Amino acid sequence: MPAAPSTKTSEQLLDAKDALAHLATYPRSDGLSIADLMDSTIRGGLTYNDFLMLPGKIDFPASDVVTDTRVTRNVVLKTPFFSSPMDTVTETDMAISLALLGGIGVIHHNQSAESQAAMVRAVKRHENGFITDPVVFSPEHIVSDVLDIKARLGFCGIPITENGKLGAKLVGIVTSRDVQFRDSTTPLRDVMVTDLITAPQGVTLAEANHILRDSKKGKLPIVNTQGCLVSLLARSDLLKNQNFPYASKDPETKQLYAAAAIGTRPNDRERLRLLVDAGLDIVILDSSQGNSIYQVEMIQWIKQEFPKLEVIAGNVVTREQAASLIAAGADGLRIGMGSGSICITQEVMAVGRPQATAVYSVAEFARKFGVPVIADGGIGNVGHIVKAIALGASAVMMGGLLAGTTEAPGEYFYHDGKRVKAYRGMGSLEAMEQGRPGAAQANGKPGTTKHAGVTTSQPHENAATTRYFSESSAVKVAQGVSGDVQDKGSVKQFLPYLHVGVQHSLQDIGVRSIDELQAGVRAGTVRVEFRTASAQLEGGVHGMNSYTKRLYA
Ligand code: GDP
Ligand code: GDP
Ligand code: 5GP
Repeated sequence: MPAAPSTKTSEQLLDAKDALAHLATYPRSDGLSIADLMDSTIRGGLTYNDFLMLPGKIDFPASDVVTDTRVTRNVVLKTPFFSSPMDTVTETDMAISLALLGGIGVIHHNQSAESQAAMVRAVKRHENGFITDPVVFSPEHIVSDVLDIKARLGFCGIPITENGKLGAKLVGIVTSRDVQFRDSTTPLRDVMVTDLITAPQGVTLAEANHILRDSKKGKLPIVNTQGCLVSLLARSDLLKNQNFPYASKDPETKQLYAAAAIGTRPNDRERLRLLVDAGLDIVILDSSQGNSIYQVEMIQWIKQEFPKLEVIAGNVVTREQAASLIAAGADGLRIGMGSGSICITQEVMAVGRPQATAVYSVAEFARKFGVPVIADGGIGNVGHIVKAIALGASAVMMGGLLAGTTEAPGEYFYHDGKRVKAYRGMGSLEAMEQGRPGAAQANGKPGTTKHAGVTTSQPHENAATTRYFSESSAVKVAQGVSGDVQDKGSVKQFLPYLHVGVQHSLQDIGVRSIDELQAGVRAGTVRVEFRTASAQLEGGVHGMNSYTKRLYA
């Protein structure tokens, strides 16, 4: 009869209840700190796909994770999302939707200064606390004047004063129902409502909102002691405030933040004046290589001319580049060179840097001066967003990921049986030569001429060319490609998916906020692992005959 296998082990087992105490005896935690991961003497430049975050401990629900983040010296957002200043990504619709959802859309400058300023104005008008410059008419205006405002600006609740100006005696108000079914030439004195509920000047916004709520009216005019109109409140703003709790708003005016990109040429100064007039909050100096005397001079000029405007400079990928722009007065930096999905800079110019290394290196430096950084380009999924933030970015900027949404400029078309929208690099020959696709109008509706699914309008000095420094050469050297991306539905569903995705990821890592994640990375308590090529294959779907990849429901 064979002998029974021995159960005796030579190793002395520890008591299971001592596991945590025993863990503390290890000299360092499992995995790597990000500082060790990023030690370039070991591995060279890394991308987001080259590492993974290690899980921590979950003792809170994902919905508790706070994503508030400072994106410039003076602007804090509730979600870390920017859309790129590209003519196939950000015009009025994208900028308004992103701001309502807690991010910021940066309006591109491959269009005339006037049309860019009209888009900024539309963003600023979209939501208000007290409307301090409401459209006002006189009793002599006619019904078609109201319909014209409705068509151009989207509202038709208009206070009527004696002389049609703000500051004059309030005599009535017209709203959509007052002008409905009326002959277009009827004077407003015949249709306006004169039995008015108003609130006195000096009322707080909370009190005024209360009066408006109780009044069951659509508008609340605010008047001074002489009965003259000083501002207006709209009921629809109460709804917007309720429906979009994350909205990126100026705390004083309650207007959405507006951001726009410009170049660094002399005529960009005139462009910027128009944008500031329209209410711009954040300007992005749009250059693929931001460390130039042009950008340094532009920052200094802006800081003198418009001290309240937040300036995001860039793009940069090294500490040395960042130092020049920080010293010049930048309030934020944009990081990335050649990592964009449509980008061929690294291939053609031999210049750039793998994005994870670039973000870590610049963020670590800029933080010492209180300058937040935005990781721009190469964001393809929720995981990339979390890694960019772990590396020190305050927010990410996305082009390709948002280009297929309903709110991006241009129309959908079909390519190989798939519903797509055009997406192209601003350094593609198409963008440099053609002017801009998408809309010319402030409401973001598409223009007229179509080309491969994009629409074009209004020729102008081409901003795409100036970004890539090739305007004076006879030969244009492309730094981007032109193509299309698949339909992603509305950002109103897609952005909340990204946000909830980030919350779940931070929960897995065991941190309750972006601040806690970044503090954990700095302290070395949030750990990461380097990912070999085979680890990357293992981490993707594999071994399937076929599959469907649905990301959210
Ligand atoms: P209306 O009932 O047709 O006037 O439109 P809503 O009240 O539904 O929407 C008005 C929206 O436009 C609100 O979000 C306002 O803050 C915004 N808005 C911006 N400027 C003005 C303005 O001059 N007059 C009015 N009535 N609304 C404005
Ligand atoms: P919170 O909204 O309660 O967090 O506090 P805030 O300081 O942001 O707002 C103060 C008051 O302004 C509250 O009564 C808000 O409901 C109101 N409020 C916030 N945003 C808007 C807006 O866009 N329009 C209007 N009319 N009121 C707003
Ligand atoms: P994506 O999110 O599609 O990966 O990258 C978008 C980013 O790519 C933009 O925010 C911008 O910084 C950059 N970009 C846009 N157009 C071009 C281009 O033609 N060439 C290069 N090199 N970068 C571009």
